[in-house]
Amino acid sequence: MSDAAFEAFEAFLGSGSEFLLTAHVDPDGDAIGSCLGLEAALQYLGKETQVVLESPVPASLEFLPGADRILRPGRVATRFTHALVLDSSSLDRVGTVASSNLAPNARVAVIDHHWGNEGFGSPRLVNPEASATAELIYDLIEYLHVPISPEIATNLYTGILSDTGGFRYANTSARTLRVAARLVEHGAAAADVAEALYATKTAPSLRILGLALASLETKSGGRIGAMTISRSMFEEAGATPEDADGIVQYAKALAGARVGVLIQEIAPGEIRASLRSDGTVDVNEVASRFGGGGHRNAAGLRVKGILLAVKEDIFRALEHAMNGKGGPASPRG
Ligand code: 5GP
Ligand code: MN
Repeated sequence: MSDAAFEAFEAFLGSGSEFLLTAHVDPDGDAIGSCLGLEAALQYLGKETQVVLESPVPASLEFLPGADRILRPGRVATRFTHALVLDSSSLDRVGTVASSNLAPNARVAVIDHHWGNEGFGSPRLVNPEASATAELIYDLIEYLHVPISPEIATNLYTGILSDTGGFRYANTSARTLRVAARLVEHGAAAADVAEALYATKTAPSLRILGLALASLETKSGGRIGAMTISRSMFEEAGATPEDADGIVQYAKALAGARVGVLIQEIAPGEIRASLRSDGTVDVNEVASRFGGGGHRNAAGLRVKGILLAVKEDIFRALEHAMNGKGGPASPRG
């Protein structure tokens, strides 16, 4: 990134004393690790800070240093004049935080790595080449000469580990690994983070995984692996959609599949889908046809509709994308 972007952030931080930090709904390790890592750096700089997130912190991320101080929008009466919106491609992605906790003419700064970030806010540190928003925050913190505490290191390391799928996705660059190594040097609890992210499963999450695995369908001659979770499956497992986080990787693991899909009925008539690609299909483009988005190889969407109908619509849109046909699919609802 150019020094101008960092300079603009330094000026932005200098222009306020109280900062709201927020990130996208259904926050993952990058959303939360980025907020908490940057929050600790701002506190070092003597700023008052509050992390506000629309959705609760998933149990698997409660171990992150500072996670216990995160609040939901309804619990925060303050309207902030300065906000940092992290890991979000548009302001909509932060849910009601924008309408509840920003002053009318609030300044909104953005740090993000999503392709198709809509260009809201100023200043902006947006680089789709970065593996994670946390990688960009590492650069900013270095620029600001804030010492990287173990607390900052563990949070940023979690963001990078989470968004690279444990250093397995194509976004894992040599630079990503160098930054991760630096964070470990600064005290990131690498083994604890890996254990929390990849080797700790609650009973409901193991049960919903079992049901989802059993739902596997192969489509389009094996080019699509799909799993479906209905309301009744959630009930049978005693699980919530949060317990199903990460299951899409098993759909993507199907040998020969170009795309893995997980379709969940998160509430009656409310469908969420996660799409993962091997790199040959732009699932961000497919998700955006349904009003969703994300990255080329990992994207998601939410629509209202009937589970089986939405599933068919998604299959059709994926087949269009794989066959190189540009014609619009017709998402329902
Ligand atoms: P996941 O499938 O894990 O929920 O999300 C994968 C990626 O797609 C993440 O980068 C996430 O931010 C993005 N994503 C998921 N759902 C949506 C959505 O409804 N809208 C947009 N714009 N992005 C989404
Ligand atoms: Mn991210």
